[in-house]
Amino acid sequence: MWLKIRNNYSPNFNTRKRQKKNIKYIIIHYTGMKNELLALNRLTDFKSNVSSHYFIKKNGKILNLVPDLYEAWHAGKSSWKNIQSLNRYSIGIEIQNSGHENFYEKFPNKQMNSVKKLLRFLTKKYRINCKNILGHSDIAPNRKKDPGEKFPWKELAKVKLAHWHQLNEKELVKCRLKKINSLEKKKFFINLYKIGYTKIKSKSFNNNKRLLVKAFQRRFRQGLVNGISDQECLILSKNLIKS
Ligand SMILES: [Zn+2]
Repeated sequence: MWLKIRNNYSPNFNTRKRQKKNIKYIIIHYTGMKNELLALNRLTDFKSNVSSHYFIKKNGKILNLVPDLYEAWHAGKSSWKNIQSLNRYSIGIEIQNSGHENFYEKFPNKQMNSVKKLLRFLTKKYRINCKNILGHSDIAPNRKKDPGEKFPWKELAKVKLAHWHQLNEKELVKCRLKKINSLEKKKFFINLYKIGYTKIKSKSFNNNKRLLVKAFQRRFRQGLVNGISDQECLILSKNLIKS
């Protein structure tokens, strides 16, 4: 497969080289900037202290900002399963989109085709399991919303580039907004932790719980992101730990 990638290097990375075997995750971001020029300027400005390995324009062009074997600064304070600070173990992909703070537009097909091509290339090269392709909000639910509920994870799952459920969606949606009791709520959170979301510490517990549910919904129940756990969320989470 031929993949055209241009270089546009960023100075924002750790100069110590890592080993190929340490690359286990891919983290998807949106830039949250109004346009590509602003986003690229920020990602390559040494004063910003942020970067990513790849940048995907709306027209599908792919830029390499940091070579894979160097740690780019994209994830920040983050965790998944037992891992803290995902930068060490991941490749970060920034996708141009103005984000929730601006227009939060749809991700165009041309852009998504490049996302798929790049994911296919990277998962093969580093033998990355599709369950390890995550959104920034998955690993930092109390700080981040990207890539958000418009990012087509289901479309990626169809070509084995994302984790997804195996349920009938028409049946599933009937359980939306149906209340769950406190025991079921407990089960739901246990399922979230089994999927990989990090356990909430006691500090501002309720608020962080709501944000965690939102992160889960942005990823797996994009039709309604309200931060409230219901039957649909519970059934979904059960299926996800099996599939
Ligand atoms: Zn991000």
